[in-house]
Amino acid sequence: MTKVLLVTGASRGIGAATAGLAAERGYAVCVNYLRNGQAAERVVADIRNGGGQAIAVAADVAKESEVQRLFATIDERLGRVTALVNNAAILERQSRVEDITEERLQRILATNVVGPFLCAREALRRMSRRHGGSGGAIVNVSSVAARLGSSGEYVDYAASKGAIDTFTIGLAREVADEGIRVNAVRPGYIYTDIHAAGGEPDRVERVKGSLPMRRGGLPQEVAQAIVWLLSEEASFVTGAFIDLAGGM
Ligand code: NAD
Repeated sequence: MTKVLLVTGASRGIGAATAGLAAERGYAVCVNYLRNGQAAERVVADIRNGGGQAIAVAADVAKESEVQRLFATIDERLGRVTALVNNAAILERQSRVEDITEERLQRILATNVVGPFLCAREALRRMSRRHGGSGGAIVNVSSVAARLGSSGEYVDYAASKGAIDTFTIGLAREVADEGIRVNAVRPGYIYTDIHAAGGEPDRVERVKGSLPMRRGGLPQEVAQAIVWLLSEEASFVTGAFIDLAGGM
């Protein structure tokens, strides 16, 4: 059976590394992106050059109609999804809670919480035996911020990741007897462009001296754990978390 994987927000960073590694392991991969089609096409080209199968599909994970179109495109071009990595997320500039606007809260929760729910719902409709599927695996990309709170910086982002952790546990239980596993990874400080969006492109360099391993992580180091959780090697693992945070 073809293994079909959707990675959301996969034009760069942890998502791109996950798409590339999963393709090497035999998945046909959908590289979802929001705006940067050129970067997504480069990820696809790298996979194809390595002999793998991939497509790039634009969709805003926070919008129901776009998520439904995304899955319909995958049905048509790759087949029924058997694996999902809820990777897409945003953070915004450092802000104390007393200064946060409602618009910002709605944006962050829509992308980081509603998006993963919508993608999981569409995936379950294809994976679940109740819908004629043959099971599957979901990995949610959370953050150590879900445990630590990111006070004075990104409390809203951290709260959205806390929701993802609870979502992971509840969904894992809900579908455990349907051949579907649901797990999460919690990265720490990883070298990606998300920190520039937070107004701090050099954030990992700034904090690394205070981290237990005195370094940030690489996207590939997170991708390896994600792809393992998706794989048959993790066949008895569900509702679990792997911290990729160098000891934080
Ligand atoms: P990134 O900014 O490079 O990747 C996030 C991707 O999601 C981007 O490509 C972005 O365009 C996409 N995206 C944003 N909104 C979207 C939407 N509405 N629909 C579709 N795609 C959308 O950063 P990254 O570090 O690779 O982040 C990947 C995941 O890792 C995120 O869930 C992030 O919260 C998590 N994470 C990262 C770190 C870190 O230090 N880099 C730490 C903890 C958790």
